[in-house]
Amino acid sequence: MLRKILIANRGEIAVRVIRACAEMGIRSAAVFAEADRHSLHVKKADEAYSLGGDPLAGYLNVHNIVNLALTTGCDAIHPGYGFLSENPELALACTRRGLTFIGPTAAVIERMGDKTQARLAMQKAGVPVTPGSAGNLANLDEALRVADQIGYPVMLKATSGGGGRGIRRCDDAKALRNNFERVISEATKAFGRAEVFLEKCIVNPRHIEVQVLGDHHGNVVHLFERDCSIQRRNQKLIEIAPSPQIDEAERQYIGGLAVLAARSVNYTNAGTVEFLQDTDGRFYFMEMNTRIQVEHTITETITGVDLVEEQIRIAAGLPLRFKQHEIGRRGFAMQFRINAEDPKNNFLPSFGRISRYYAPGGPGVRTDTCIYTGYTIPPHYDSMLAKVIVWALSWEDVLNRGSRTLRDLGLFGIKTTIPFYQEILRDPQFRSGHFNTGYLEAHPELLEYSEKRRKDHVAAALAAAIAAHAGL
Ligand code: ADP
Ligand code: ADP
Ligand code: MG
Repeated sequence: MLRKILIANRGEIAVRVIRACAEMGIRSAAVFAEADRHSLHVKKADEAYSLGGDPLAGYLNVHNIVNLALTTGCDAIHPGYGFLSENPELALACTRRGLTFIGPTAAVIERMGDKTQARLAMQKAGVPVTPGSAGNLANLDEALRVADQIGYPVMLKATSGGGGRGIRRCDDAKALRNNFERVISEATKAFGRAEVFLEKCIVNPRHIEVQVLGDHHGNVVHLFERDCSIQRRNQKLIEIAPSPQIDEAERQYIGGLAVLAARSVNYTNAGTVEFLQDTDGRFYFMEMNTRIQVEHTITETITGVDLVEEQIRIAAGLPLRFKQHEIGRRGFAMQFRINAEDPKNNFLPSFGRISRYYAPGGPGVRTDTCIYTGYTIPPHYDSMLAKVIVWALSWEDVLNRGSRTLRDLGLFGIKTTIPFYQEILRDPQFRSGHFNTGYLEAHPELLEYSEKRRKDHVAAALAAAIAAHAGL
């Protein structure tokens, strides 16, 4: 087994990996930019090393991170999500220098990280793929020609895109002309690569993705699906496992497709195969994420499998501990991404000091976060500061538990997406369990909540806190 893991990440996912290490008797080494010196991941790790003053450069420097792992006596690196997690250079450098990379091989990361290559690999394997261009587009003329063939609306996408960025819907040739250079420049800025391709736009699809695990002994299993259709601007906000809107036959079908997809590229470690389901119920492969995902938590909750522990065991060369038929699931889990944003102000980031934080509790509740009372959120990073996960036996119960838990949570000093989620949880359509990726855009009234309800709750929480203090 591995002895000491360097976690090349920050925030809640670094804390998540540290927790897995602690349970497995593995030492954890955190890294941090100076802007993150007070982050919980630095406090919780067995050791922590500064990456210097630049808020981002240190987390992205492959050479430096690999050297640090070696000089501090680590035998493995866990990349988390974002940052270097899908950069084949890190996986390659680890292999070359005798370190274990906790993820798939560099070759697989490279192949699946390139969305056009991934599409080709899937077509070859017999996995249905969204209709689109055969490869990257050479120029606007080719884009216009392909769009005519597949029919509008089309999605113009950055080949190396991620995090919901570098994607534009084009309803006609004019929109495609307008967006072509824009997406290229966005892709170049965000991902350092200019390639783009076209896909047929599936109108009002559901985003359904399947968690897979593959070991180094030829075993590949899936751990059911997650419904990530609740999105804003192609970014996930609420995730649900299992999907309340597919049946058992569909579940088995996409589970099988995901295993086929993973097998066809000799996939190892944890990965996610993302599908879109159209309004006729057909599934299309969209992309594969070759890393642990933000929403892995809900799969853990319904299956009882610790996915980060499995990642570490697989990387250490151990065979999977369970066969497909041994993986069960129970009830529903729902994850809320608590973002430091003001929904009522166009989701403007709301960084600052957290004056009070009380974690929610009670049955069926999990929080993954790096915040605490008095913590100041640095402005350089993603606005997601906590994940709240709830579980219950039935769909209706998980909705009610979600509402109760978000009320239970106390988070003061900044604006967050919490009141917006409370509105969604009250909405009859959401509660009906039928929604697609267009849901939030179709319901602008969900933003018309009054802060008053929230304020009453704040006043009550403060009064309770004062009373508790006086009683001491
Ligand atoms: P998930 O699919 O796990 O929900 P997201 O798409 O929300 O993941 O991305 C997780 C994190 O990784 C976000 O902070 C996102 O900005 C970042 N990210 C994902 N893909 C890339 C990429 N290709 N380049 C840079 N950052 C990325
Ligand atoms: P990323 O790498 O940023 O996660 P994806 O390719 O997974 O990008 O797409 C992100 C989201 O964009 C999807 O969940 C979906 O909502 C939307 N999307 C992507 N491709 C299509 C498509 N062809 N038709 C409709 N929606 C799409
Ligand atoms: Mg995606």
